[in-house]
Amino acid sequence: PLSLVWLRRDLRLHDNAALYHAFKSGRPVLPVFIFDRLILDALDDRNDRRVEFLVQEINRLQDELAKLGSTIIVRYGKPVDVWKELISQYTIGDVFANHDYEVYAKERDKTIGDLLAEHAIGFHTSKDQVLFERDEVLTGKKTPYTVFTPYSRNWREKLTDFYLKAYPTETYFKQFWKTKSLPVPTLDEMGFEPVGESFPPRATPDSLIDSYKKTRDFPALPHSTSQLSIHLRFGTVSVRDLARQAKQVEDKTFLTELCWRDFYFQVLDHFPHVEKQSFRREYDQIEWRNNEAEFEKWCRGETGYPIVDAGMRQLNTIGWMHNRVRMITASFLCKHLLIDWRWGEAYFGKKLRDYDLSANNGGWQWAAGSGTDAAPYFRVFNPTLQAKRFDAKDVYIREWVPELDTPNYPKPIVEHTMARQRAIDTYRKALKKV
Ligand code: FAD
Repeated sequence: PLSLVWLRRDLRLHDNAALYHAFKSGRPVLPVFIFDRLILDALDDRNDRRVEFLVQEINRLQDELAKLGSTIIVRYGKPVDVWKELISQYTIGDVFANHDYEVYAKERDKTIGDLLAEHAIGFHTSKDQVLFERDEVLTGKKTPYTVFTPYSRNWREKLTDFYLKAYPTETYFKQFWKTKSLPVPTLDEMGFEPVGESFPPRATPDSLIDSYKKTRDFPALPHSTSQLSIHLRFGTVSVRDLARQAKQVEDKTFLTELCWRDFYFQVLDHFPHVEKQSFRREYDQIEWRNNEAEFEKWCRGETGYPIVDAGMRQLNTIGWMHNRVRMITASFLCKHLLIDWRWGEAYFGKKLRDYDLSANNGGWQWAAGSGTDAAPYFRVFNPTLQAKRFDAKDVYIREWVPELDTPNYPKPIVEHTMARQRAIDTYRKALKKV
């Protein structure tokens, strides 16, 4: 019998926990990847960067495995149907996979685990995409943290070299099942079109991590941040490798960002209601204005607030937005326009090449004030001051809003002082109701 490794958001052979455990089973190993119809068919856009990235990375894996005399089974379908087929087609001893913390994924894994059990096939899962998960970092009262700073202190203390060791998968590569290459579905076969984009490189120089604290808030700088988010999202880099690198440099700001990533995963895992509702439920009493015409303008980057418009156009054009600008655009939607954070969250979810439910939800709930690390509701970002501080010479703004000084550029959609007061009044009214 074979040991199959079901790859999902861990698209690498290097330092992969599930793959390592599959090798340790002692049986021949074969990886599997499923293009999940339930997810892909629901995507609005037929030229979706994430799907293109996946196809590219699966082909890369296929090439790597071909060089090792092996292959990867790649299917397009509903996971449960694909697994039924695989069970009838192959003699499977055990299946290995890495943990996933989203509600949909947890239910999917439960269904597949049950199906495999019916056929006396073991389903073994491991931690891989985060440094700490589930109950590994808890408060003194053994409850999950709901505030970042104490969580990060505890997280940092626990992060010994033991947790950063790479799984030595390379040592076992000869154990891949020797077989001829199997086909990988094309974008076209799955109803998608290429965007034709090149994605950011996988490597991050130490120099970037070293200067990260100084550069990370300035979107105009070419290497302001690592742009690794798509790789962390799909596991084309190992978070352990990256954390090891980050731990070695003197300034630990970059390491703290990886901690934020873990933090939001554990929030989603422990408080799954955040996927649909405010973390602080009283925030669901806010009477959002939800003006559709204003939402459209925000989406297109036509609010008349240059930093907001630059960010939204960057998102629409390249599928990525600088973190500082994500904070400004998100805050603007929730507070200045009083549009439900879920609308913005869904729009980012469509467009971001690094879309990750946990970080996106965490970011949006932070901006709305409804989340774990809520700033007081009366603190409202001033987009003009933010731009002055972080893009003083309008370099970033002009890159995305070239018509800035022309009559074609729209007038502001709302006046800041009025919008700020309106947001405060609306929030106060909602929160008083509790
Ligand atoms: P770097 O600054 O180089 O950081 C390195 C890595 O650390 C990132 O790749 C990411 O994996 C992690 N990271 C950094 N900041 C955060 C954070 N605040 N929360 C969680 N992880 C973090 N990040 C996503 O990966 N996917 C999302 O869908 C997403 N949506 C967001 C929505 C909003 C409204 C906000 C405010 C933030 C969101 N973020 C999201 C977090 C952050 O903006 C991105 O991770 C970052 O901009 C990605 O660029 P980078 O790889 O250059 O980041």
